Order: sequence, then structure tokens, then C-alpha cells
Amino acid sequence: MTPDTLHGQHLIDNQRRAAVSGETLPVIDPSTGQTCGSIARGQAADIDLAVGAARRAADGEWGRMAPATRSRLLLRLAAVVESERESLAQIESLDTGKPIGQARADAGALARYFEYYAGAADKLHGQTIPYQPGYTVLTVREPHGVTGHIIPWNYPMQIFGRSVGAALATGNACVVKPAEDACLSLLRVAELAAQAGLPAGALNIVTGLGAEAGQALAEHPGVDHLSFTGSTTTGRKVAQAAAQHHCPVTLELGGKSPQLVFEDADLDAALPVLVAAIIQNAGQTCSAGSRVLVHQSLHETLVERLAQRFAALRAGPAHADLDLGPLVSRRQLQRVWDFLSDAQSSGLSVAAQGTVVESAPAGGFYQAPVLLDRVPANNRLFQEEIFGPVLVVTPFADEAQALALANATRYGLVAGIWTRDGARQLRLARALRAGQVFINNYGAGGGVELPFGGVGASGHGREKGFEALYGFTALKTVAIRHD
Ligand code: NAD
Repeated sequence: MTPDTLHGQHLIDNQRRAAVSGETLPVIDPSTGQTCGSIARGQAADIDLAVGAARRAADGEWGRMAPATRSRLLLRLAAVVESERESLAQIESLDTGKPIGQARADAGALARYFEYYAGAADKLHGQTIPYQPGYTVLTVREPHGVTGHIIPWNYPMQIFGRSVGAALATGNACVVKPAEDACLSLLRVAELAAQAGLPAGALNIVTGLGAEAGQALAEHPGVDHLSFTGSTTTGRKVAQAAAQHHCPVTLELGGKSPQLVFEDADLDAALPVLVAAIIQNAGQTCSAGSRVLVHQSLHETLVERLAQRFAALRAGPAHADLDLGPLVSRRQLQRVWDFLSDAQSSGLSVAAQGTVVESAPAGGFYQAPVLLDRVPANNRLFQEEIFGPVLVVTPFADEAQALALANATRYGLVAGIWTRDGARQLRLARALRAGQVFINNYGAGGGVELPFGGVGASGHGREKGFEALYGFTALKTVAIRHD
């Protein structure tokens, strides 16, 4: 990793730039707790420069580019990302603390997003609408112009790929504000995009704090569309700021996603998936399967078998590539500890706990995975997103109770159903309050083709898949009179 990679600057108009104020923020390695680099502390003035650059691109060469040419550029970028997959994974793993194997998968997904959206760039058709005699009516899909993208720290490359990939493919010029806890991979990707031939201003990155650079981006009147991925609380603030200038917003927020395990479930198939769904990225995944609801006849067996697996899980430094790495920050670790201390004071039973390996540096932000049993629906650990490696189990008596429990939080992101009963699969798939439902699997491998988003406190709008292209364009109706 070069010193340039660890000392990030904004990328505006394809140029590296220090913050206008000259200030920086530290980059902390979650595996050690030590400072390992710096990023620019962008504020309103930096956002203003980036929005200006994006506007020039949207009104200039980039905005006028033929879709097929945009498509070729994105394909080139996909190839460059693929060829830099290992170096991007190393940066992401250092910056977020995720095990290097998971970071490699994220870098691969980023290349795949660019490839997928490159293929879609020249296939987004309008329609002709049958209307009164003497008229021809057609619809055209147009880019919004300048799109703002506020990204969280948990999957920087993946979330950038799904949001910026679709926005660029449809001809928008982007201003991206990554999370202050994990920016480095995206700064490198933006440099690669410039090398791949993306015109100046089409993709700009401004780093900084949420309350400063993030808020300034949400409030900027020159932004025509905002894509926000992050917590439900911040999403509300971003939507309020955007409303002041009539800016549409896609909100991809948190979750407390249930997996429903019925008496006829194939437990051998379900068990590794139930564990992986909460352990991946140390539980810092919006779509984590963080609640297991199980039929009472299977409850004891399931908890016993889950406990065996939890006891064998190991957390350690990112480069060791164990089951899980550290959490991203001391703040996040403290948040998880607060939940665990609440669990203890409300008398919840710990069914099993994994271990932090002895070689893990003392200053790192480690939390061993925890399995909590018989967590009642009114408990905070059942209701709120912990965003750490903590799985809660709650038994149910019948299908009606399972559904009521599944839908009993304010979130609605993902749900998993484990049953062989086809009618039950369909009934529940329709009745569950969630943006995506998985039957006898969870996540379906996360394919870029699958539309993703939530309802309720999990947000609104859809990213990923073809559906995202509709969100990043505005529909115009053109009626021609020609008697
Ligand atoms: P966060 O809301 O604290 O931060 C997300 C981003 O918003 C960061 O870039 C941050 O700097 C910025 N931000 C913070 N305050 C802001 C403000 N006032 N105005 C504008 N921007 C601001 O969330 P986080 O802790 O980084 O991420 C974890 C959350 O993200 C979890 O709740 C998780 O479920 C959610 N998430 C959702 C999805 C999804 O697709 N639904 C995906 C990943 C993460």
C-alpha cells in the first residue's frame, strides 16, 4: 500500500485535492486501534466545489455522451477494478477491519456492479402510449443531473458499486460522501475511474464528517437526487434536508431481519446459513439475519446446535481471515457493549459465546459473537438494530404467532423462511413486511441483479438490479399532436 493510498485527499474533477480548510481526520485501523493514515476533512466549501464540477460534467461531454460509449467506459472500469481486486481488498480490509476474504468478495462485487450496469446503460427504453387519435405519446427516461451519494462504512465498495454504478450508467454526474470511518478504497476506485477514461467531474469524492460534509451535500441546492445508505436516524435528517430543496431521496436504512424456522425445516441446510447471516462482517450488515424465530417443538434442538457453532467461532485481526474481524470503531464496540449490558441486566440467557483469539492486538475493537435465547418481543435486543455479532432467538407456537413476531419491529428489510410447506412459503412471503423474502436460503448470494430496499424504518426506494435504473432517472412524457 503506497503512502498516497493511506493519506486520502478528495477527488474532484479527476484531481486529488486537500480540504479547503487544510484540515484532516485520522484513519484508524480497527484491528489495532492505531492511527494508520489520514483523510481530508471536507466541509460545505469542498462539497460546493464537487457539486460545481459535477454540474459542468452533467451539462458537458459526460451528459451528452451516447449510452453505448458510457457503457464501454463502465466496462473498462469494471476490468480495471477486477485487475486491482487484491489491492482494493487490502485497503478495504485494513480500513474496515473486515477479514481479507470478505474484502476480496466485496472488490469482486464492485467490478460486477460496473459490469452489470455497463450492460444496462443502452437498454433503458421509454414507451409509446396508446392515446386519442391525432396524438403520439411517448416517455423518455432522463438522468436527474447531479446525484449525491452518502455511503456507510460497513460495505463501502459494494454500496458505492450499486449506487454510483447505476447513477453513472444512466448519465448522472456523482458527488460521493463516504463514511469518515472508511473512505480509502473509494478514493482509490475514483482514481481508477479517471484512469479508465471517465471525464472530469463525472465522479467526485469528498471525505469528511457526516454532520459537516454529509449534511452540506444533503442541503446543497445543486444536487438533483440523493441516495443515502446508513442509519435510520441519519436517514431522517437527510430526508428533511433534501426536502428543503425538493430533492428526491432513496433511503437504504437499517434492519432487524427475522429468519423463521418451522417444524419441517431442513435444519442441516438452515444452520450454517443462520450463523453466517449474523456473523458476516461481524454483524455490521443492514440485512443481517439478527432474529431467529423458531417453532417451539424445534427450539431446544436448534439452540443446542446453534450454540455448538457459536462456541467454535473466532474473532481476530482482519489479515488473519477468521470468522469475523474487529468492529469498525471504538464507538461501534461501545454500542454493542451497551446492548450486551442491557441483556445482562434484563436477565437474558447467554446460550453460547465465541472467542477472540489471543493474538488479537489489545487495542483492537473485538467482540466475540453472542447467542441469546428466549428474548421476548418487548425487549430492546429484539426490537433494535445492534449492528454487531449478537443473535437473538425467540420461540413461537404457530404460524400466526411467527408472522406477528416477524412483523413486530419498526423495520422491514429482509426476511428468511425455512419450511418445506409450499403453501406456507407463499402465504408468508406475501404477509411478511420486508423488501425481500428468501425461502430456504438467506440472501441468495447477494447477486447484483436482485433489487434491494426496505419498508418502514428500513427506508424506501430500491437499489441493485434493473430497478435501480428507474430510481436514477426521471420519466418525461412527450405528447405530439399531428391530426
Ligand atoms: P450513519 O447514518 O451514521 O452514517 C452513514 C453516512 O451518513 C456516513 O457517510 C456519515 O458520515 C453520513 N452522515 C452522518 N450524519 C449525517 C448528516 N447529518 N447528514 C448527512 N450525512 C450524514 O450510519 P453508519 O453507522 O455509517 O452505518 C450503519 C447503518 O447503515 C446501519 O443502521 C445499517 O443498517 C445501515 N445500512 C443500511 C444498508 C441498506 O442497504 N439498507 C446498507 C448498509 C448499511
